[in-house]
Amino acid sequence: MTGGAGFLGSHLCEALLGRGDQVVCIDNLVTGTLDNLAGLLDHPGMEFRCHDVSSYLDVPGPVDAVLHFASPASPRDYLELPIQTLKVGSLGTHNCLGLAKAKRARFLLASTSEVYGDPEVHPQVEGYWGHVNPVGPRGVYDEAKRFAEALTMAYHRSHGLSVGIVRIFNTYGPRMRPHDGRVVSNLLVQALEGKPLTVYGDGSQTRSFCYVDDEVRGILALLDSAHTGPVNIGNPAEFTLLELVSEVLAVTGSTSEVVFEALPVDDPARRRPDITLARRLLGWEPGVDLREGLARTAAWLKERLGRPAVPPPGAP
Ligand code: UDP
Repeated sequence: MTGGAGFLGSHLCEALLGRGDQVVCIDNLVTGTLDNLAGLLDHPGMEFRCHDVSSYLDVPGPVDAVLHFASPASPRDYLELPIQTLKVGSLGTHNCLGLAKAKRARFLLASTSEVYGDPEVHPQVEGYWGHVNPVGPRGVYDEAKRFAEALTMAYHRSHGLSVGIVRIFNTYGPRMRPHDGRVVSNLLVQALEGKPLTVYGDGSQTRSFCYVDDEVRGILALLDSAHTGPVNIGNPAEFTLLELVSEVLAVTGSTSEVVFEALPVDDPARRRPDITLARRLLGWEPGVDLREGLARTAAWLKERLGRPAVPPPGAP
């Protein structure tokens, strides 16, 4: 499991360990934190390695599955780490595919709704090829993931590797870094701290937010299936950002005002997964609605903001 100390990766490690799997968790802690693995590092089935998967990867012994989840995922992070993001999506994916091939393991790629770019087809079906600006700032993430998907399918076609590709739509929940820059964590932290809520653009753009427990359940169902190729795993309930703001204010009881800031370059105007395939293939659909998910995330963030983070390894 790469990216195992990240927000989503740590929940996946926990779920895999919980069902009795052995996990080699690989992460260079550039956006992941050991804090996310508190309570898991001592688990007898868990081995943690601090390693950048853009460099050669060796895991001795048999391996049943390789899950490649390492990558900056918040726009703020990948805009700050453009080359690392391109490397982990290209070289990192190559290394992980090489490992899966050597071990005859199933390979699962964490891909993204960003492969659809600023979509002209709505809701987004897996067969839609997308509308991506390769040379814009977001291209570093979008094109890294598109390349990763292409490489994954090439390994399937050339080497017969079993491969799944999960296209993840805006996922939120406990263990998001409070200041990672994504909209749910930003708005909840601002509301909890009584600061103004920042809306980029006029707030009419839409997103569809999936609670992390639902996302993890869908990802494991895809892992355990033999399905080849991409599957959208996301919550099809679509909200404008102004609607999200209302939900955040209702859940936190905050009276924070809203301030409007510039819309980032190439910010997609709308996004919503078509989950027909996931329903049919995996019997999966999300169960946690936005109000409930935000309440759980707000409770976690409130507690998290009140205590210091675990320092990275080697820190004084
Ligand atoms: N956004 C916002 N305020 C914030 C952070 C983000 O209005 O404090 C907007 C952003 O411009 C985008 C949406 O919220 O339209 C979702 O942004 P996020 O960074 O969470 O992820 P994205 O879906 O763009 O990858």
